[in-house]
Amino acid sequence: MLTRLYLHGPASRFDLMRATGLSSATVSNVVTDLVAEGLVAEAGLLDSDGGRPRTLLEVRPGYAQVAGVDIGETHVQVGLFDWTLDTVATATYPMDEGRPDPAVLAELVRAGIEEVTAKAGVDPAALLGVGVGVPGAVLPDGSVHAPTFGWSGAPFDALLRPHVAAPLHLDNCARTLGQAEMWRGAGRGAQRAIVALLASGVGAAVATGSPGGVTSTTSEWGHTVVEAGGAACRCGSRGCLEAYIGADAILEHYQAIAGEAELAGAGTEARIAALVAEAAEPGPAADTVSWAAEYLGIGIGNLINLLSPDRVILSGWVSAAMGPTMLPAVRDAMRRHTLDYMAGGTVLELGRLGPEAVALGAATLPVHELLTSGGR
Ligand SMILES: [Zn+2]
Repeated sequence: MLTRLYLHGPASRFDLMRATGLSSATVSNVVTDLVAEGLVAEAGLLDSDGGRPRTLLEVRPGYAQVAGVDIGETHVQVGLFDWTLDTVATATYPMDEGRPDPAVLAELVRAGIEEVTAKAGVDPAALLGVGVGVPGAVLPDGSVHAPTFGWSGAPFDALLRPHVAAPLHLDNCARTLGQAEMWRGAGRGAQRAIVALLASGVGAAVATGSPGGVTSTTSEWGHTVVEAGGAACRCGSRGCLEAYIGADAILEHYQAIAGEAELAGAGTEARIAALVAEAAEPGPAADTVSWAAEYLGIGIGNLINLLSPDRVILSGWVSAAMGPTMLPAVRDAMRRHTLDYMAGGTVLELGRLGPEAVALGAATLPVHELLTSGGR
């Protein structure tokens, strides 16, 4: 019942009976408990044709706060959200680009949680939980494989735990982002959505909507090969998709064709913003955008031919920065690299979660835990 109210908005007791198959008495008892716990509140009356108006129920945003942490490759961002995932406060710290020390990152996470909870006047130990999204695979023992960081089994969970007073959840950032896009963003209502995370690294999550919620799995899409013997990739292979559409690869391509001309700005994010601004006029920047769009279209076409999703969502900071400029060219390339009968069934869209998308995705972890365990 709580999942139904959380994911699909206000409903009457009668709607909950129909959605769950539970009896009227059971629904009534559970609603009484949820209201007493502060999870759910009454939200006005719904007129029903001729009959008695029905009372609507909705989840109460003030029930709890959650923190979500985006361990990016250019920054660490900590977001504080209410448990319906509206932003309360954020803190962002730039990172030394390259191979970060897990202990240094754990310290940044601690500082970030302290900063956002202080801004909001919330006790860090009273949070419903802290979710952390990392650009790599999280093993059952909490160690992390993140080739882009040079981490092979880094004990990140063990390093974080002493710094986090609330329940801690660690997962791959593409997977958590996929969950957030399905819950609140461009994936709502999709049967099978692929959420592509475009940043310095490139990943994708396959999310499947089901009546009980969302399940998703990640893939190392960024390391699927799109060109035999192509550009060198950070993973040690050649011709990987990430070596064409990762932020650094895009900037390197620009430099290779622009020669002496330099993009303004310090750091990867500022230089991508400068590239997008310059791409408004014909020249090396516009050519670079078209070049990257072609490879992105190939990557998306491969996903569609393999998995036939009904939606593909481009998310992550590179999508937010470059998406509006490159989307028409990506759509065109995607159609050319997909079988006709499959392309027609897939909608390509930009994510709708804004600059806190990955932190918000991480914040879905403690909420998901509450929805699946009933808070026990
Ligand atoms: Zn690779």
